[in-house]
Amino acid sequence: MTSDPRQALREIVTDVRAYLEAQQAMGLEHAAVKWPEAPPPARPLSLAEVREELGECTRCKLHRHRTQIVFGVGNPKASLVFVGEAPGADEDAQGEPFVGRAGQLLTKIIQAMGMQREDVYICNIIKCRPPNNRTPETEEILACQPFLVKQLQAIRPKFICALGGPAAQTLLQTKEPISRLRGKFYDFHGIPLLPTFHPAFLLRNPYEKKTVWEDMKLLLREMQRA
Ligand code: URA
Repeated sequence: MTSDPRQALREIVTDVRAYLEAQQAMGLEHAAVKWPEAPPPARPLSLAEVREELGECTRCKLHRHRTQIVFGVGNPKASLVFVGEAPGADEDAQGEPFVGRAGQLLTKIIQAMGMQREDVYICNIIKCRPPNNRTPETEEILACQPFLVKQLQAIRPKFICALGGPAAQTLLQTKEPISRLRGKFYDFHGIPLLPTFHPAFLLRNPYEKKTVWEDMKLLLREMQRA
């Protein structure tokens, strides 16, 4: 934290505000603090409006090192949304999620499911690349969480697939490891959510590809039933 008390106070207010907005977006109706200048919207924002609200975000320290915000890509009316962890170097350079090696594997998985990237929506729990691709910190996730929730509210997908531990744990508000979470459906505000291993994990552990394929077949079966 900075030694400037005014800056420190500004950072605390930013963090508290991000936390409360995340809680509100997740359905908390009554909080001790009201935001008269930012009442909850009567209707969900469109994806373009969410992007506009995000702006050239400086809500957490990740903005200092990013090349650009990596908001999300794909069909704004997608039935299926994939949520990953954070942009890496390729995504930071190109402004699009999952375009590096892990992304190419995700594209293959989507195609093996009989779809194209354009059919689904792809985003991450945080929109800026952490330095050296480190795991996102709690305050960074909390600062970005309102925008992830608003993206999902804008798209209203029928299914969500969380890729890897941080995405699954953030969306499900749990600390359970991905090895325990994967392969089962959970309820995310009325939307069935299936966690599975992250494609980057599959690049390091190719023998787990069959596990993810089992998860994707389960997802496809549920999508066909719905
Ligand atoms: N890993 C992620 O979680 N997201 C990306 O966009 C790329 C790699």
